Amino acid sequence: MKLIVITGGVISGLGKGITTSSIGKLLQSKGLKVTAIKIDPYINYDAGTMNPYQHGEVFVLDDGTEVDLDLGNYERFFDISLSTENNITTGKVYKAVIEKERRGEYLGKTVQIIPHITDEIKRRIKKVANTSNADVVLIEVGGTVGDIESMPFLEALRQLGRELGEGNRMFIHTTLVPIVDAVGEQKTKPTQHSVKELRALGIQPDMIVGRCKVPLTKETKEKISDFCDVPVEAVISAPDAKRTIYEVPTMFEEQKVDEYIEKKLGIDGKKLDLSQWKEYLSKLYYPKEEVNIAIVGKYVHLKDSYLSHIEAFTHVSSALEVKINIKWIDAEDIESGKNLLEDVHGILIPGGFGVRGTEGKILAAKYARENKIPFLGICLGFQMAVVEFSRNVLNYKEANSTEFYPDTKYPVIDLMPEQKDIKNLGGSMRLGAQKVILKKESMAGRLYNAEIIYERHRHRYEVNPKFIKEIEDHGMIFTGVDESGTRMEVFELKDHPFYVGSQFHPEFKSRPLNPSRLHYGLVKSAIEYKNSHK
Ligand code: GLN
Repeated sequence: MKLIVITGGVISGLGKGITTSSIGKLLQSKGLKVTAIKIDPYINYDAGTMNPYQHGEVFVLDDGTEVDLDLGNYERFFDISLSTENNITTGKVYKAVIEKERRGEYLGKTVQIIPHITDEIKRRIKKVANTSNADVVLIEVGGTVGDIESMPFLEALRQLGRELGEGNRMFIHTTLVPIVDAVGEQKTKPTQHSVKELRALGIQPDMIVGRCKVPLTKETKEKISDFCDVPVEAVISAPDAKRTIYEVPTMFEEQKVDEYIEKKLGIDGKKLDLSQWKEYLSKLYYPKEEVNIAIVGKYVHLKDSYLSHIEAFTHVSSALEVKINIKWIDAEDIESGKNLLEDVHGILIPGGFGVRGTEGKILAAKYARENKIPFLGICLGFQMAVVEFSRNVLNYKEANSTEFYPDTKYPVIDLMPEQKDIKNLGGSMRLGAQKVILKKESMAGRLYNAEIIYERHRHRYEVNPKFIKEIEDHGMIFTGVDESGTRMEVFELKDHPFYVGSQFHPEFKSRPLNPSRLHYGLVKSAIEYKNSHK
C-alpha cells in the first residue's frame, strides 16, 4: 500500500480537493491505479443533513451515500465511481466504535481516542486500500492542521505512515502564501507556522504546495525549502487556475510533481501521458461560439451549492466547443416581477428543498414553455415544471407539491408512499443510482442512446400517479420511468424544441470526457435557439 496524505494549513478553502484530484490525475496518467479518501472531521454522520450554504453541494454516490463535494472532484478527475468507504467522517468512526463497545467487543477495557478511535480510522483506510486494489491511495484531510476535531485523524495517519515506512507514504501539505504589500512580496511565515504545527503532531511534510495568486518565485521556494526542511524541487507552486480547475494537473506536470512522487514512493510508472486531458482543455480554451444559460435557484449566492452543474456545463463546453456563460438568477427575484430571462438561450432549474423561491421557479418554467426556450428541470426543477404545467395547461390553479402545500386540492407532486412512515431524516431519501427505462423514440432516449440507464437520485417526492394520464393527455409525456412503471423519471413536452425534466440528477455522473447527456441536450438546443433568433 502506497499512501499520499494531503493536509491543509493556514486557512480552509485552499483547494486541497483540487490538489488531491490533480496529483491523482498525474499518477493515473502514468498508468497507475489510484483512489482517494476524503476525511471530514465533522460529527455529522454524512453530509446529507447539511445545508448547502454550510459546505456547498451535497454530492451523491452510486451507492446512495451523501458526501462532501470533493468526492465529486475525485470522480470527475479520475473517471471512477466511489463508494461510502471513500468518505470517513468523525460521525461514522465514533458511531462504529460506540456500537462495538455496546456489543461488548472491548469488554473490560476503557475505550479511548488512542488506540480505539485511531485504530478504527486506520482500519477504514486499509479496507479501501485492499478492496480498491489501487497502487496509490490519496487521503485528503478536511479542515486545517491545528483544528481540534482533526487531531485523531492526523494521529492515525502519523501512526499509519510509520507502520508503512519511508518509501511507502508521503505527506503533502497545502498552504497559503499571501501577498500583503504593494511591492508584491510573497510571505512565507504562515507556511512556516503551519508546518511547525504539523511537526508538533509528529508529521514532517515531504512536499509543500503553496497556494498564491501568482506562481511562487524562486526565492519563495528556497525560503520555504530552508525553513520547512523540504527539498526545493518539492516546493510546488499552485497559482489560481486562470480558466478552469482542470488545468491544475498540467501546472503540476510542468513542475515535475509526478517525478518527485515516483522517486519518493519508489514507483515505476509509465511515461506521463496527459494528451487526452490536454485535448479536452484546448477545446475548452478555443470555443467556436457562446451561449447564455440561466441557472434559477435559491442557493445562487454560494456557487459551490451547484458545483456539479457548473462542472457538467464545463464538460459540455468542451464537447460542443462552446463558451457557456452562466447567468445566476435568484428565483425570488423572478417572483418580484423582474424579467431576468430575456437574454438567455437556455434555462436550468436545479434541485432543492423548501418553499422559498419555488414560485419563481414555476414562473421560469412557464416562461421557457411559452417562449419555447430550451429548458431543463432537475429534481425539484422537474417537479416545479410539472406543477406549472398542471396550473396553466390543465388549469388546476391550486396545483402544488405537498412538500409546500400539504392541503392542496391538486397534489400533482406528492410524497412517495414508502416515505410516509419515515421518521429519521438522515440518509432516508430515495438515494443513489436507480434504474430508469427510457422510451427509445424520445429526446432522452436519443441523447442517452440507450433504453436502460442508471442515474443518481436524492428525493422524497414524485409525480402523483393519479395525475399522470391527464398530464400526458395534455402533451407533457413521461419518456422515462422506473422499473415498476409507476414512478416518473423524465418528462418532455411535445411541441417544444427542448423542454425536458428529470427526477434524477444527471450532473452527478458528468465527466470531462463523458458529459451529462441532458446538460448536453440543453446546450445543444440553446445554440440552435440562439442561431435561429439572431
Ligand atoms: N425536495 C424535493 C424532494 O424531496 C426535491 C429534492 C431535490 O431536488 N433533490 O423530492
